[in-house]
Amino acid sequence: MPLDDIKLEPAYDAVGTHEELIRWSRAYCTRAVEQYGFTVDVDSVEWEVSTRAKRRAAAVKTPQIEHAKVGTTIDWETQTPDETVPTCTMSLSWRAFDSFGRDEWAATLRHELVHVEQFQAFGATDHGPAFKRRATAVDAPVRVRRFTDPKYVLTCTDCGDDVAYRYRDCKLVRNPSAYRSACCEADLSCERPDDGT
Ligand SMILES: [Zn+2]
Ligand SMILES: [Zn+2]
Repeated sequence: MPLDDIKLEPAYDAVGTHEELIRWSRAYCTRAVEQYGFTVDVDSVEWEVSTRAKRRAAAVKTPQIEHAKVGTTIDWETQTPDETVPTCTMSLSWRAFDSFGRDEWAATLRHELVHVEQFQAFGATDHGPAFKRRATAVDAPVRVRRFTDPKYVLTCTDCGDDVAYRYRDCKLVRNPSAYRSACCEADLSCERPDDGT
């Protein structure tokens, strides 16, 4: 998606469209490259927003480079017809952005920038020891929090507030009547949003 560089970056809390999310995220990454010393060419990154139900908050899609491996510097001049680093795509999950605060979103972007940095240097990227060292150095999580809708929502039967979210079966969802809500000391009801209940 071509974007006008002159447009001002929206405030994080004011981001309301896919284009604004891309603009904010790209501006953040441009700053982060400087601030954290990434060796990344942000101009060789394309951006997209995914609204599909994906569990990852963000992902970097790269072309497959034969024989490339992390740790072995790649010579792009001999590797590609264009003689330059191929573009990779930063794919952002709208639902993750919606549920993350600014700091967690920024840390997620730094995690993805480590992938871009590895790809641009080596033609490959992974979550191995070199990734871990780099992620730590740039204050990014080694694993981005898996983003998913909760499988179960437990609500207070008295006031109706959400009390807890669970992503898998557990004692609480198997037997909610054994627990009381902290807000009202009332029974809990357990719903599966997927079932439309
Ligand atoms: Zn990753
Ligand atoms: Zn309550």
